[in-house]
Amino acid sequence: MAASKLQTLWTKIRTALSGRAGRPPVRKHRPVSVIPFIQSVNDSRTGKVVGAEILMRLYDGKDYLSPAGMIAEMERDREINAITCGMMQDVSAVLPQILTDVPENFYISFNIYAPQLYDKRLLSAIHQLRRTFSPSIRIVLEIVERSLPEFDDELVDIMDTLREKNIQFAIDDFGHASSSLAYLEYAGFSFLKMDRSITSAHNGKLVYRRLINSLVLISQELDLHLVAEGIENEEQRELLTTCGVKDMQGYLFSKPVPLHKFREKLA
Ligand code: C2E
Ligand code: CA
Ligand code: CA
Repeated sequence: MAASKLQTLWTKIRTALSGRAGRPPVRKHRPVSVIPFIQSVNDSRTGKVVGAEILMRLYDGKDYLSPAGMIAEMERDREINAITCGMMQDVSAVLPQILTDVPENFYISFNIYAPQLYDKRLLSAIHQLRRTFSPSIRIVLEIVERSLPEFDDELVDIMDTLREKNIQFAIDDFGHASSSLAYLEYAGFSFLKMDRSITSAHNGKLVYRRLINSLVLISQELDLHLVAEGIENEEQRELLTTCGVKDMQGYLFSKPVPLHKFREKLA
């Protein structure tokens, strides 16, 4: 979608969030809101759903739009905290009733920009979320690799405290930009999500086969759960499976869908 349309939509949402000047939010325009969608993660061999990622959609009264072009701005202006809290509440209200019969080790994940973990309201939303799901359902926070520029002991302490409360962490978009390998060990991640820029295949070969083989080994050594993102075709599925990658997320299995449609994916 055109960047300007997304920008306009985001301006409306921001106004709605702040309820500026005591006016009711955005009445003259079509209603806009932030809605959580969900995309499955599947076992590449059985096709079964093993987990799911919550993905934000901006609804303009007609279409559900990806926030991709606006995330940096939302993060910079800290509105991302209120949005994430709101999505966690929505998910808590709907998903526990849908996830009544899920496989062992099933997990749901949320995208978090590392500095968000300093926000007290968000931390309490995370604890609240944890309480609404059965303890057997894993809750994972996906931290984008680009948001971990430097080691920060305070952040690692916050992550430790959350881990004690049965919250796990994934490092997201791994391989997209420069990657801090030491983080994988030091900050206690449980999941490594390979960015789709390194899972592509061409002429019957994985473009980054050697890198992927190395990540499979690193994941085994560090006891990390490896997930490949952006799986769009059978060729990628087969080649990555041969490399030892088991969990996959991508349009080949499912696009992100509204929460209430997730029940069909579990069938
Ligand atoms: P991400 O965390 O890497 O999420 C995966 C993105 O890949 C999603 O884009 C998903 O729709 C897309 N995708 C999944 N399978 C395929 C595939 O097979 N092919 C292709 N080409 N794409 C696939 P989406 O939903 O547009 O989100 C884009 C990015 O926006 C996310 O990338 C994430 O960084 C950010 N984002 C989305 N929701 C949130 C959120 O709630 N909070 C934060 N902080 N960031 C979010
Ligand atoms: Ca993610
Ligand atoms: Ca990702």
